[in-house]
Amino acid sequence: MKAVRMIGPGMPLQLQHIPIPVIGHEDILVRVRAAGICHSDAHYRAGRSGMGSLPITLGHEVAGEVELAGRLVTNVKAGERVCLHYNISCGNCQHCKAGNEQFCAAVKMIGHHVDGGYAEYIAVPARNAIPLPDEISFEEGATLMCASATALHALHKGRLRAGETVAVFGVGGLGLSAIQLARALGASEVYAVDIKPDKLELASEYQAIPIDAGRADAVEEIRRLTKGRGVNVALEMIGLPATMRQTVESLGVLGRAVIVGISQIPLEVHTYQTLIGYEAEIIGSNDHLLQELPVLIDMARRKVLDTSRVVSRRIPLDAERINQRLDDLENFTDDVRAVIVQQDD
Ligand SMILES: [Zn+2]
Ligand SMILES: [Zn+2]
Repeated sequence: MKAVRMIGPGMPLQLQHIPIPVIGHEDILVRVRAAGICHSDAHYRAGRSGMGSLPITLGHEVAGEVELAGRLVTNVKAGERVCLHYNISCGNCQHCKAGNEQFCAAVKMIGHHVDGGYAEYIAVPARNAIPLPDEISFEEGATLMCASATALHALHKGRLRAGETVAVFGVGGLGLSAIQLARALGASEVYAVDIKPDKLELASEYQAIPIDAGRADAVEEIRRLTKGRGVNVALEMIGLPATMRQTVESLGVLGRAVIVGISQIPLEVHTYQTLIGYEAEIIGSNDHLLQELPVLIDMARRKVLDTSRVVSRRIPLDAERINQRLDDLENFTDDVRAVIVQQDD
């Protein structure tokens, strides 16, 4: 089969012809129909993240059709449309059994530690497959597996309850999903903070209240708009110490700040003014869980989560085109979301 693979750090991905993977009794072989090209893939290609053994097929946002199912597989069958949870865990340890499989010591991510979806086929444990309803395209299904899922997990970590207010810092793919999901979970008001007018406009189209942090102090604006109360839940989706601090400072009494963006610089906060006085919390949110994905897919099916505008370019399984997209992501020259789409020849 054809697979577009990482050969070495900092090198362009290369098209290789490799054997179709052999599956075990509890695995499925999936004919890949869509694989999202994610910003993380640019980091992987550049060598900024520890990878599985090279060469390796990238691609962690995958949807397709079950081609073959192992003898012991009961949750899906051949021919079924599925999308794939990207974390493969042992399924048996204390964390896996508690449903927190991202802490499994044996966790491996597809397209990062094991071969991913930039290929004609992928083999995964059947428990990683979630049925994909006909109403959702393969492209949308694939992209749901990363940013949208992570946004839903962050809202769960923030323990958002109906009627509460939310502030979302950063209106990228994560932020836009978070805005819609917060509304779907019953948030009364969602404030969207960014500095780019087009992102803020998009946020308002999804009923968020835009706050242009390039023109006004985001924290003061949130305080003003909430009549001094601050928000119940604030999400940081950018990964900058300044916005992390603002996320914490925009909280009200018993507020929860959820940090999703990654930064190497420590976060400084005034503990009395921002935390103790409000009994506020700072919560880390990492990835998402298998059990959250069926909920997310159902939200997309019911159109309370609209991802139709996420995918803006479809490209074939072609090394040159994929490398070009990764270059764009690397250089921030073009932030449209591309998905590798494969139809039958
Ligand atoms: Zn991704
Ligand atoms: Zn485990």
